[in-house]
Amino acid sequence: MRCLIAALVLVFAAWHPAMAQSDAQFRNWLETQVWPDAQKQGVSRATFNQALAGITPDRKLPDLGQPGQAPKVNWQSEFSAPGRYLSENNVAPLVSIGRAQMKQWASVLDQVEKRYGVPKEIVVAIWGRESAFGRAAIPKSAIRTLATQAYAGSRRDLFYPELIAALKILQGDHIPLSEMKSSIAGALGQPQFLPSKYLVYAVDFDGDGRRDIWKSVPDTLASIANYLKQHGWQSGRHWGHEARVPDGVHCAVEGPDKTYTLNDFQKAGSTGVDGSALPGAGSDSRYLMMPAGRLGPAFIVSKNFYVLKEYNESDLYALFVGHVSDRLRGGGNIVGKWNTVAGFKRGDVRAMQERLVAQGYDVGGADGLVGFKTRTAIGLWQGKNGMTPTCFPDAKLIGAIR
Ligand code: CA
Repeated sequence: MRCLIAALVLVFAAWHPAMAQSDAQFRNWLETQVWPDAQKQGVSRATFNQALAGITPDRKLPDLGQPGQAPKVNWQSEFSAPGRYLSENNVAPLVSIGRAQMKQWASVLDQVEKRYGVPKEIVVAIWGRESAFGRAAIPKSAIRTLATQAYAGSRRDLFYPELIAALKILQGDHIPLSEMKSSIAGALGQPQFLPSKYLVYAVDFDGDGRRDIWKSVPDTLASIANYLKQHGWQSGRHWGHEARVPDGVHCAVEGPDKTYTLNDFQKAGSTGVDGSALPGAGSDSRYLMMPAGRLGPAFIVSKNFYVLKEYNESDLYALFVGHVSDRLRGGGNIVGKWNTVAGFKRGDVRAMQERLVAQGYDVGGADGLVGFKTRTAIGLWQGKNGMTPTCFPDAKLIGAIR
């Protein structure tokens, strides 16, 4: 009986007049808009037909809606403290499986490091973070996902060129259609590249003529390294180090837009966490990075840290990758403590950001997230209002910023 009801529901859904009309519109859009653009980019009719024959929009995807509509954010969700992202529960499994992967792929990793100048531990850390070393289920058909987002998503301008790029990948015969899987956000294969990034940065490292970032581990590892190299990774330079940064250094000097030298930080009394001198030449460019302001550990980072952010724009992502890579080299845990930050919602952070903007501060966008611009704005506001700068929100401070 349940089967029969399920079947009736399916029949109803398939014949629902609104949906039937909408699917006809979808097909019309594919034919009149996507096909001419794909053809101009060298996609054959055969590839186009094979990729899009019979497909319907995937209405289960998130962020479907009118163009320009902001993706849905739960402003009532508890603000997620940065320490959680770097908790040992998240880090330790990646380090342990990562070590085994480094043994298994030692020879390929040595060749990748030699060719691209990116440390193998960094490459392995990203591989682990993006797809659990290729073990994560990558569930979606890339073409259907991108076509749906390009047709019915709230960010159609972003996804339309990605759909065309995905058709070009198919045209290049790098992967059979049935194996061309993506995340729900259209990110491809083990390194999770968007199709446009794939076209520029993916490489064939195992020499079979295909850039296969879905099944080939050598292609995956080399593609990650090539991506970082092309974004400016400087060979022989570490991403950064955890540091002791004296209170005399204002936390608002944080960020990639404020360049200092290693000498500057040393003169101000900054050292490694064990009190030793920070490594590097005195004239090297360095940046202060404090993902939780004075409420968490401090890092003095090189330009390579910001190359990691080209992979994912979150400070915590880049720090996670850098830290896992250190652990893969035998390094220890982060020493500084992450203070508990709790008792307010993401929407409270947004409201605080809007109040700071109204007072002329640059928070980098009122999105309820605490990036370096928001941290800096908070620190400057605290200094101006006679408070000790922490550069990070807490429940009391959110109430005080008026
Ligand atoms: Ca290959």
